[in-house]
Amino acid sequence: MRHTSLLLFLALIPSTLGAQKPGVPVPSDYDRRQPPAVVATLSPALIQELTSIRDAGLTDDYAYRQVAHITESIGPRPVGSPQAQAAIEYVAGEMRKLGLEVRLEPVQARHWIRGAESAELVEYPGQAPGTTQKVVLTALGGNHPTPPQGITAEVVVANSFADLDGLGRENVAGKIVLFNVAFDKQKAAGGFAGEAYDEAVLYRGQGAKRASALGAVASLVRSVGGADYRLPHTGGSTPAEIPAGAVTSEDADLIAHLAAQGKVRMHLILASQTAEDVTTYNVVGDLKGSEHPEQIVIVSGHLDSWDLGTGAIDDAAGVAVAMETAQLIQHLHLHPKCTLRVIAWIDEENLGRGHAEYARAHASEIGNHVAALESDLGASHPMGFRAKITPEAQAQLQPVQDVLRPFGANLIELSSDSPEADIEPLAKQGVPAFGLLQDGRVYFNYHHTAADTLDKIVPQELRENATALAVMGYALATMPDPLPR
Ligand SMILES: [Zn+2]
Repeated sequence: MRHTSLLLFLALIPSTLGAQKPGVPVPSDYDRRQPPAVVATLSPALIQELTSIRDAGLTDDYAYRQVAHITESIGPRPVGSPQAQAAIEYVAGEMRKLGLEVRLEPVQARHWIRGAESAELVEYPGQAPGTTQKVVLTALGGNHPTPPQGITAEVVVANSFADLDGLGRENVAGKIVLFNVAFDKQKAAGGFAGEAYDEAVLYRGQGAKRASALGAVASLVRSVGGADYRLPHTGGSTPAEIPAGAVTSEDADLIAHLAAQGKVRMHLILASQTAEDVTTYNVVGDLKGSEHPEQIVIVSGHLDSWDLGTGAIDDAAGVAVAMETAQLIQHLHLHPKCTLRVIAWIDEENLGRGHAEYARAHASEIGNHVAALESDLGASHPMGFRAKITPEAQAQLQPVQDVLRPFGANLIELSSDSPEADIEPLAKQGVPAFGLLQDGRVYFNYHHTAADTLDKIVPQELRENATALAVMGYALATMPDPLPR
C-alpha cells in the first residue's frame, strides 16, 4: 500500500475557500500544475462499453468468489509455502478458464519460515515474587533468529531514531531496543491512513538495522496499525544481524510504563528461519488486443500474503478484482484494442523480487506498456485512483471519471511517486501508473495481522473495486490515444 495525500483532502474543500482572502498564504499543493481546460471526449460507443462494464460489475460476484476460494480454501500464502504454490496454480487455472494466455514467470525468492515466538518480562518494577508478564509479539519477515532457548536482556525504549542516537552505544549495547512509535489513528481517521502508516513503518523497516549498529541484541517495534485488540502486526524489516519483532500496542505501552520506573528485563524467543531460496512465480495472463496486441495494459494485485491471517484484504482482494476485469470484458464480449495483462504478483510482502524480475525479464518491452494498474490498499469503498500521470493525461481521463462518478469512484489524485509497490519499476520508467484509492480508514486495523480474513471484505465494496479497475483498465486499453507521458 501507499498513501492518500493532502491533495485528496484539499479536493474536498469547496474551491472558493482557497481562492479568496488576499494575504492568506496559499498551500503549496495549489501551485501544482492544473489540468488544461480542454474537454476530452471518447466515442459514444466506448462510453457505452464502459457503462456496460460498470453496470455489470456492480452486480457481479466473481471477485468475491475468487477471494473466498483463495483465502478460505487455500489460506495464507507466504512466499515459498505450499499454499502460495497452490494459489499460483489455482489463479493460473481460473485465468485460463477466462480465455487468457497464461504464463508462470519464475522468480527466485527468499524463503522465510516463521518459528516459535514468545516473550515475557522477567524483571520489572513492582514485580510480584515468582511471576513474569507475558508479552504478545510476532517476528518480522526475514527475522534473524534468537537461539532456540531465547535470549534475556534489559529493554530500553526509544521514541524515535533521534532518541536512539541520544541513548548512544553505552545505553544500547547488549540490550533489547523497543521502538515505541504509535500509528497516528487521528491522522488515519481524517483520511490520511497512508501517511500515518508511512511514518510509523519506518521503525519497522529500519529499526533493527539502526539498533544493531549500536550493539543491541534484538529490536522490537510497536505494531504498526490502527486498532488495539492486542494483535501484533507483522511485516517486512530490513535484514539485520539481530532478531526483530513487533509487540502489540498494549504491550509497548506496558513496557514503556514500567521502563520509565526502573529496570525491565525480557526473555525473548523469535526462532524463525530463512531457508534456501525458492523458485516461485508471477502469474501473467494476457487477453490479446484486437488492434495493438503488442501494447499492454496491466491490471494487478499481489498473491503472496503474510502467514498470520489469510491475506484477504492484503491482497487476495487485489488479485480477484484484477481477474474480474478480464471476466467482465469476456462476459460482455468486448474487445480491448491493446492487450489486457492480468498479473498476480508474487513476493510483494517479502523482498519485492516478483516485480523486480518482471521489470528485468520484460525490459525490452517496457516501452509497450500503455499503463499499469494495481489494487493493494484493501477492499473498502474505492474513491478513485492515485496515479503517477501527467496533468494532461488526467484531463484525457475526464470521460472515464464521469462513468465512475455514480458510485463515487471518480477521483484521480496525482502522485509524484508510484502509487503501488509492484508497478513501481514500470512507473519509474514512465509508464502511467494507477493504484486503486480505497477508503483507508480501517485497512490498517487488520493489515498484516491474524484478523486479515474474508469477513473484513464487504461484498458490495469489493464489487465497486472490481468495477472501478475494470472500467479504467478497459478504457486505457481501448482509448484511441495512449496517455501522454
Ligand atoms: Zn499488500
